Amino acid sequence: QDDEKAKRAAELVIANKELSFQDDEKAKRAAELVIANKELILQHDKIMTLAYYDMLTQLPNRWLLFDRLNQALATSARNGRRGALLFLDLDHFKNLNDTLGHDIGDLLLQQVAERLMSCIREEDTIARLGGDEFVIVLEDLSDSAIEGAAKTNDVAEKIFLTLSKPYQLKSHFYQNTTSIGATLFMGHELKPNELLKQADIAMYESKGKGRNTLSFFSSMMQEVITTRVNIENELHRAIEQEQFQLYYQVQVDHMGHPFGAEALIRWQHPKRGVISPIDFIPIAEDTGLIIGIGQWVLETACAQLKGWEQDPLTRHLTLSVNVSPKQFVETEFLAQVQATVQRYGINPTRLKLEFTESMLVDNIKEIIFTINALNEIGIKISLDDFGTGYSSLQYLKKLLIYQLKIDQSFVRDIVTDSQDEVIIRTIIAMAHSLDISVIAEGVETEAQRQLLITNGCIHFQGYLFSKPVPIDEFELLIRKIH
Ligand code: C2E
Ligand code: MG
Ligand code: MG
Repeated sequence: QDDEKAKRAAELVIANKELSFQDDEKAKRAAELVIANKELILQHDKIMTLAYYDMLTQLPNRWLLFDRLNQALATSARNGRRGALLFLDLDHFKNLNDTLGHDIGDLLLQQVAERLMSCIREEDTIARLGGDEFVIVLEDLSDSAIEGAAKTNDVAEKIFLTLSKPYQLKSHFYQNTTSIGATLFMGHELKPNELLKQADIAMYESKGKGRNTLSFFSSMMQEVITTRVNIENELHRAIEQEQFQLYYQVQVDHMGHPFGAEALIRWQHPKRGVISPIDFIPIAEDTGLIIGIGQWVLETACAQLKGWEQDPLTRHLTLSVNVSPKQFVETEFLAQVQATVQRYGINPTRLKLEFTESMLVDNIKEIIFTINALNEIGIKISLDDFGTGYSSLQYLKKLLIYQLKIDQSFVRDIVTDSQDEVIIRTIIAMAHSLDISVIAEGVETEAQRQLLITNGCIHFQGYLFSKPVPIDEFELLIRKIH
């Protein structure tokens, strides 16, 4: 438009020049001004591009997004039509960047930007917030929230389809999925940054659901988030105020003899009562608090093992401690375990550390080193929730694992689902051929126990024998069933 104006001005100047032939000098000055002005406009355009667009993808940046979003909210307030804000995050983008380099990562972002543009209407906005995060504003969707959500879903479907096709990044072929979070907007109910936060939260929900999905934000989710923040704040004080407690769940063999226990943490919250580890361990992991909590668990378990050494009924028991992947990758981890075992003077062969398979994906060399070092001290390693991740046979062979713990999801349906029985039988056969011991967790019924025995598993843990209980109850139980 500005270009057009400049041209019109120049034309006027020329016309003017023809009219007032004598006034040559003035006309020349005016023409010069027009040209200078045009250059200014060009420069201005350049500045605007730098300020409002992302250089890599040429998409609007955060500033322009907020500008457009404000406009969209104003329009929605005027015409009563709902719109949607979508937050996209590429799955595992960091892996690509780390393995193939940032140049290749940049290429992917550019191609993703192009493909995204093909998924939306001209009046909609796509912006890149930075990294692998994109935001889309869909306007004028519907008067109704339900229809608005349905249309948002359609767009998301289109995006999943488009973005999942293979990319050619120089000589590499690459395939990728995306997680999307969405929230609907209506007029000025919420401010742009609030909407963005909602869509971001919903996006994380999608990641949690296994990626390549769309999640909507709702007020219910907001509540979940608020509780989470509270828990986070209170976790900081939980150790010093001695609010944690270990529960012990017995492990038995096929004769019903107890041979060990798993230590499971509980949080005795002064107001909320007992909080399950499922509700606070993930938060502790995200915030780094797991390091302190993990150390507390290890120390408490070692103290318990020391106590058991005094009693012939408990002397032989092993105690399993769960270790979070976050703890394991800490550089201090190995040294701390060694130091703790020494400090409490326990027999290290009575201590078992449980890791999950998911840990075996990254930094395999370091993991092998740490696990071997733990083995050398005599500590046993158990792979928890086995069957739910992707550990390769190769790792299992290299890793000096003492025990596989068949995940409860397989045990739950073993009686009714023949596929689960096949999986369990395969795990057991594989473990035996690698000289690894097997334990089934989540055993709740006699029928499950029988089928496990039939398939060669003779170590169990589950409600059939006992729930996790405080130490006093546990020791009573041992006296009863030894
Ligand atoms: P996990 O290590 O796989 O522990 C087994 C979970 O299954 C425990 O839940 C246990 O109470 C439950 N369970 C045992 N038998 C049965 C059964 O027969 N049926 C059913 N349905 N469930 C059974 P819990 O205590 O809520 O712990 C959940 C998870 O929290 C644990 O899963 C573990 O991953 C984590 N966790 C617990 N304590 C700690 C800890 O001290 N440190 C770390 N990092 N994680 C912990
Ligand atoms: Mg466990
Ligand atoms: Mg488990």
